[in-house]
Amino acid sequence: AKEGDKLNAKLGKSREMYERACKHLCNGVASSYQLRDPWPIYVDRGQGSRMWDVDGNEYYDFNNGFGAMLQGHANPYIAEAVNDRFAKGSHFAMPDWDDVVVAEELTERFGLPKWRFNNSGSESTMDAIRIARAYTHRDHIMKIFGSYHGHHDAVMISISEDYNNIGDRYHLKSLPYGAGIPKATVELTVPVPFNDLDALEHRIKEMEEEGNPPACLIMEACLMNMSIVPPEPGYLEGVRELTKRHGIVLIFDEVKTGLTVGPGGATKLFGVTPDMVTIAKSLAGGLPSGAIGGTDEVMHVVEDGEVYQVGTFSGNPLSMAAARASLEKVLTPEAYEHLDHMNQRLMDGCREIIRKYDFPGYAQGFGAKGCVTFSPHKITDYVSFRKGQNAALNQLAWLYEANRGVYMAPGREEEWTLSVAHDDKACDTYLAAFEEMAHDLTA
Ligand code: PLP
Repeated sequence: AKEGDKLNAKLGKSREMYERACKHLCNGVASSYQLRDPWPIYVDRGQGSRMWDVDGNEYYDFNNGFGAMLQGHANPYIAEAVNDRFAKGSHFAMPDWDDVVVAEELTERFGLPKWRFNNSGSESTMDAIRIARAYTHRDHIMKIFGSYHGHHDAVMISISEDYNNIGDRYHLKSLPYGAGIPKATVELTVPVPFNDLDALEHRIKEMEEEGNPPACLIMEACLMNMSIVPPEPGYLEGVRELTKRHGIVLIFDEVKTGLTVGPGGATKLFGVTPDMVTIAKSLAGGLPSGAIGGTDEVMHVVEDGEVYQVGTFSGNPLSMAAARASLEKVLTPEAYEHLDHMNQRLMDGCREIIRKYDFPGYAQGFGAKGCVTFSPHKITDYVSFRKGQNAALNQLAWLYEANRGVYMAPGREEEWTLSVAHDDKACDTYLAAFEEMAHDLTA
């Protein structure tokens, strides 16, 4: 309560704005994920690794717009590309050369030959699932229990439930995440546990016997929304083999991992190539953008006109100019070296604090992504996450950090995302806040 009061005392203008905002904006925010209790922090501006709220409080931004600002705020290369493009016209709904260059760059990085663009992660997973359904002529799909893949109906299923009431690992329940999702849609999405090949194979065979073979399995190769959960050795290879054997399109949702965990996302990091990938968030340095990539065979259903992959703003020139500048000029081999180095420093520092204060948790990460998970045991799937995760410590850590100039996603199930602008000082500020919390709690 002390840390909460301390923060709220610094957020007077945000509070005033919130009171006005609530009159005509539901809950005073543009999206429910921007809520914070008792009121949201309204932002003013950002520069590099830092941002300022409307009360003038300065933070190192470790949330980075839910992982989208890998290039840092107001990156000069992105600003130049977007300004140049805007001066020449910002929207035509016609192809332009940046689309071609970005598709070539993504092919090089992810090893998949055919691409299309859209505007967000949700659009990417929606398009990918439709393509998989068209390619296989099947209706049912599979996802990992607890994973988030965006806000369209097919994937707003089995995300955050009471783990005592989700069924056994062979028969996890399909449960709507919030109201407004038709029952018929819920029944078409079948969740399976992460890191469990046996359960996956069991469920696939059962679906086949019932006459409902799955069109696709959509999954993150490394889970990113229940702390960070890496695949166990052999798991992804097993998933690849099983899906191939059963004619199921394997979609790696790289909306969070693509470009952040390494130049070729989780696909290249873990060395398993899916049939499709979905990318968004950090693709265009803070402009709305999304991409789907796939094999020639699967993407043929788009090329021959069977599937309409469309959108007024798909391949919007501003987003594509930003994506091109980002891929060509910002996310260079040197930038990835820098991100790896900073992340290692941060994780090592967290591990040292955890060891020194004998804290229940561990640090891990890849590329620009990392997190401290407050759990006495390693998280391997949704159930172990919900059983192990310490919500009170998550909240306390968030408050300690916010009060000491470090901004993370409220709730802290989100990991940190570094940007190319994060430096030693940013990491030291983070570590000092974390150590103060560990010290105070164990004193
Ligand atoms: N897929 C994953 C793995 C995500 O984490 C998210 C968003 O957090 C999405 C898809 C949806 O992306 P967007 O919010 O851009 O629609």
